[in-house]
Amino acid sequence: MSQTYHAGRHFLQIPGPTNVPDRVLRAIDRPTIDHRGPEFGRLGSELLANLRQIFQTAGPVVVYPASGTGAWEAALTNTLSPGDTVLMSRTGWFATLWNEMAVRLGLTPIFLDTDWRRGADPAAIGDALAADREHRIKAVCVVHNETSTGCTSRIDEVRAAIDAAKHPALLLVDTISSLASIDYRHDAWGVDVTVAGSQKGLMLPPGLSFNAISAKALAAAEGAKLPRSYWDWRPMLEANKTGYFPYTPGTNLLYGANEAVKMLLEEGLANVFARHDRHAEATRRAVRAWGLEIQCAEPRHYSSSLTAVRLPEGHSADALRAVILERYNMSLGNGLGPLKDRVFRIGHLGDFGDLQLLGTLGGVEMGLRAAGVPHRAGGVQAAMDYLAGNA
Ligand SMILES: *Cc1c(COP(=O)(O)O)cnc(C)c1O
Repeated sequence: MSQTYHAGRHFLQIPGPTNVPDRVLRAIDRPTIDHRGPEFGRLGSELLANLRQIFQTAGPVVVYPASGTGAWEAALTNTLSPGDTVLMSRTGWFATLWNEMAVRLGLTPIFLDTDWRRGADPAAIGDALAADREHRIKAVCVVHNETSTGCTSRIDEVRAAIDAAKHPALLLVDTISSLASIDYRHDAWGVDVTVAGSQKGLMLPPGLSFNAISAKALAAAEGAKLPRSYWDWRPMLEANKTGYFPYTPGTNLLYGANEAVKMLLEEGLANVFARHDRHAEATRRAVRAWGLEIQCAEPRHYSSSLTAVRLPEGHSADALRAVILERYNMSLGNGLGPLKDRVFRIGHLGDFGDLQLLGTLGGVEMGLRAAGVPHRAGGVQAAMDYLAGNA
């Protein structure tokens, strides 16, 4: 099979997996060590302590050798019992997958619908909780950043709605595409389980996932009756006390995680979030200059880690992505579920700077022209103007 040769590097601008920085690649590129030996204990202890700063929690963070989907399962099976009612918000494709998992595990979700153009509705969550006088709802599950739509839910407002309803439900939040990109506060927002993955804002290859766990969630885990074994927090937390794991961890990915966390702390989390906000705003200015529509229709919910862009009626997002991959060696995110072929997604998260963003937007603008998608030129210029004027 012949393939076009592309000089220069591939632009991986899907909203995860993201580009892995050289420092992280070099940290991973070392011999695997004995995961029961003293050197590993030092690595594990350092990583588990530093990770807490990334989740903005004083409580434990556990690490699984699994993709983010595994950490979803861990969050549900450690805290809930068969038949429990959970309140979920259908903000997009990932919220839908989490809901399907809950059904398969024997939970009974209430699924609050949205139009996939905004985040979760705190008022609707508050109403459902207020109506639940018998406290049948055991958990509220929200996807912080819905990667299929580019809409970020306001977890602080969801927390306030739960508190206003005086409801004891746990709050479980998926931050797989927001952690270390968009401000997120496990403790301050009273989140009980935070679910995260390695391959997006954390700038690592896929293969690790995380749960940050509140004291209330730990207490719930004592009485939870869903079957759990591999995902059980208890042996994990016991081994983690000395920096170890109950089964073989992803040793080399943990070297990388330790380095990635150091990089994020060196930059400073506030600077990391501001960098993502700025790149997201520059991207939206480019999209508007092209005359295209942003999938997220609620400016308060704009995502800082990705932008989903709608194609004009009668034009194919997948054909556009294929042209951009073929001509410019750049991968963009596809539309998921009902958004298939309707939107493309620009990932602007992780290890990413101004010039990479301009290269990305340049590839999109040339691709729009090459694919014959009606648009105006000048998106890259609009982004440059914003970046240069807001250093
Ligand atoms: C990527 C993603 C997932 C799925 O994670 P995997 O690592 O593919 O299992 C779930 N939720 C959100 C919000 C995501 O962005």
